[in-house]
Amino acid sequence: MLLSTKGTITYGPVRSRRLGWSLGINALPPYRKTCTFDCLYCQYGRAAPVSPDTARPGFPPVDDVLAAIEEALAGDIPQPAYLTFSGNGEPTLHPQFGDLVDGVCALRNRLVPDAKVALLSNSSLAGNTEIASALSCLDVRIMKLDAGTDALLANFNRPWPSLGLEDITRGLRSLPSVTIQCLLAGGPEGNSSHDDIESLIACLQRIRPRMVQLYSLDRDAPTPTLACLDTARLHAIGRLMDRAEIPTMVF
Ligand code: SF4
Repeated sequence: MLLSTKGTITYGPVRSRRLGWSLGINALPPYRKTCTFDCLYCQYGRAAPVSPDTARPGFPPVDDVLAAIEEALAGDIPQPAYLTFSGNGEPTLHPQFGDLVDGVCALRNRLVPDAKVALLSNSSLAGNTEIASALSCLDVRIMKLDAGTDALLANFNRPWPSLGLEDITRGLRSLPSVTIQCLLAGGPEGNSSHDDIESLIACLQRIRPRMVQLYSLDRDAPTPTLACLDTARLHAIGRLMDRAEIPTMVF
């Protein structure tokens, strides 16, 4: 079953598989997917990717985002361990992403100093110098990489046409302590053939992440030609990565 897009700036705290209790920050336009990718498995369903260079209406101003977080933290909620940029698409598309990161980190220091500021990103803008600088200020960067060739990136993640793997790889390599999140799927349009995994490992060896999180589909994908990989197959791929000296966890 697909998820609905969010209408609010904050959500949760939710207990995620990878972060534990986390207050979600959706600094993206409400009620629609806004993303530079259109992954075959997207939990929000299919929608054309957006250009990273075009001004887009509907993003909440930085002050509104900070006010919403402050209001959420003042409510009767469990103390979150993370404040996490995620939501209706790609968080780094926010036109003032650097100011947003600075503001959320300052708010965290004042109100929940034990919490970490995290982000889930598709990595598409990691090669942009300003975005990379803002990403470096975060405590936790969980960055997507599902493909090790431009052809597979184009078929599986369906990015905006100007986005390519070389920029993404170079950007990810420049960031400190990156966690890579990698969704693997089988089926005719999957990304887990022998060649797919070999090219992915070569890419990861260039990036040198602190950890790779491997997982497969856990919801219905909008594309019936994708299939979930079982845990045994994920562990087998994890062993190949471990042999290439890439630390891996299977979820
Ligand atoms: S990067 Fe995330 S939000 Fe964007 S299309 Fe892929 S799964 Fe959906």
